[in-house]
Amino acid sequence: MVLAELGGRISGAVRQMSNEIIIDDKVLNDCLNEITRALIQSDVQFSIVCDMQKNIKKIVKLNDVAAGHDKRKIIKQAIFGELCRILNPGKASFTPRKGKTSVVMFVGLQGSGKTTTCTKYAHFHQKKGWRPALVCTDTFRAGAFDQLKQNAAKAKIPFYGSYTESDPVRIAVEGVERLKKENCDLIIVDTSGRHKQEAALFEEMRQLSEATKPDLVIFIMDSSIGQAAFDQARAFNQSVAVGAVIVTKLDGHAKGGGALSAVAATKSPVVFVGTGEHMDEFQVFDVEPFVKRLLGMGGDWSGLVDKIQEAMPMDQQPELLQKLSEGNFTLRTMYEQIQTILKMGPMSEVFSMLPGFNQELMPKGSEKGSQTYKLKRYLIMMDSMTKKELDSPNAELMNESRIARIAKGSGSPVEDVKEMMEAYKRMAKMWSKASKGKGLNISKKISK
Ligand code: GDP
Repeated sequence: MVLAELGGRISGAVRQMSNEIIIDDKVLNDCLNEITRALIQSDVQFSIVCDMQKNIKKIVKLNDVAAGHDKRKIIKQAIFGELCRILNPGKASFTPRKGKTSVVMFVGLQGSGKTTTCTKYAHFHQKKGWRPALVCTDTFRAGAFDQLKQNAAKAKIPFYGSYTESDPVRIAVEGVERLKKENCDLIIVDTSGRHKQEAALFEEMRQLSEATKPDLVIFIMDSSIGQAAFDQARAFNQSVAVGAVIVTKLDGHAKGGGALSAVAATKSPVVFVGTGEHMDEFQVFDVEPFVKRLLGMGGDWSGLVDKIQEAMPMDQQPELLQKLSEGNFTLRTMYEQIQTILKMGPMSEVFSMLPGFNQELMPKGSEKGSQTYKLKRYLIMMDSMTKKELDSPNAELMNESRIARIAKGSGSPVEDVKEMMEAYKRMAKMWSKASKGKGLNISKKISK
C-alpha cells in the first residue's frame, strides 16, 4: 500500500466514524481496526500498532465523556496524538549551524539512496546559505567515487575522495581536515554500504565514526524495505549512534510505514524524505503536517509556502503571500497560484501540500501528466472569465449563466467549470482559516 493510499484509508476510517449518528464503542473499535489494518499492511511493526490501539482506547473513554462534548473530535485528536507520538521520538535531531563546522555522516545499506541523498542534503543547505562539502569514503562499491564527484560538480559543491586510497578511515580523516581548512561549515561524509547487514560494514561504520567524531549520523532508509526497516535501523544504531533518519523513494510504490518503525528502532526523528531521483526532490519532514495529511486534516502550510518561495522570484513573493495572509483569495489568486505550481515540478508532491486542494478533486491515477493537464484546463477556463469574476472575493457571483458562458468560452463541459469552482471554494476556505493564525505566519515568511 503506497503512502497516499494509507492516508486515504486512515482519513476514510475517520470520515466514516464522523458520519455515524451515535458514537459508541463499536464505532470507535471499527475505526481503530481499520486504521490498524491499514498501518500493518503498510509495514508498520505489529507491536507499534497494537500499542497505538491500546493507548487510544485508554485516552478515549466514551462513557465518561460529558454531555455536549464532541466525541468524534476527542477520538480524532487521540488518533492524531498517537500517530504523532509514534513518529516523534521526543528528541530533536542535531541541527548544523552556519559558520560553525559540523560533520554529518550518512549510513545505510547499498542502494538505499545514500549517495544521492548526500548531494540532496548538501544542495538543500547550500541554497539556505551553508557552505557544504562532500567526502566519499566508499571504497567498496566501484563507481561510488565517480557518482558522488559528478553529483558534487553538478551542484558546485566541494568534494574530497581518492581513487587510490583503500582505507575509508584515512580518506574520511584527511577529507574532513582539508575541507575544514577550506572553511566549509557542513562536511557530509558518505560511507559505503553492503547489500545486506554484515559485521564488516558495521565495524567500518564504527571506525569511521570514531575517527571523524560526527556531530550527527543520519540513517538512510529505502522506504520500500517494509518490515525489515526495524531490524535494519536497530542494527545500524547499535554500531553508531544514529541521530536522524532520512526516508528515500517515497515517490515509488513504497508502503512508507517502515519509517515509523525506523523511528521506533533508533529513537531518532525523520528529518527529510526523498521523493524522486532529482536533486530538488527532497523535503523537510515535519511530523504534525504529515500526520494531518494522513488524517485528511488540511494541508501542509509551511511546505507549500516554502515551495512557493522556491518557485517564485523574490520580488513577486511578498505580494502573493500578503494577499493570502489577508484571506483575500480570489479566482485571480488561484490563477496565479496555479501558474506558480506549474513551475514547481513534481506535481504529486505539490498537490499533497496544497491546502484545500484535496486529491479527491484530482483525476484518478497518479500520472503527473493528467494532474498538470487538469491545472492547465483550469487556467483556460479562468481565461474565459471577466475581470470582475476573477477579482471578486464572492464565489456566489458565479451563477449558472456565468458558468455556462465560461464553459462555452473555454470549450469545457459545465461540470468541469463547476468542479473548478468547488476547488476554488475549498482553497479559499483553507487559506482564510490559515490566515486567521492557524499555521501560516506570513510576516515571518516574508521577512526571512
Ligand atoms: P547508495 O548505494 O545507497 O549510495 O544509493 P544511490 O544513491 O546510488 O541510489 C540508488 C538508486 O536509488 C539510484 O538509482 C538513485 O537514483 C535512486 N534514488 C535515490 N533516492 C531516490 C528517491 O528518493 N526516489 C527515487 N525514485 N529514486 C531514488
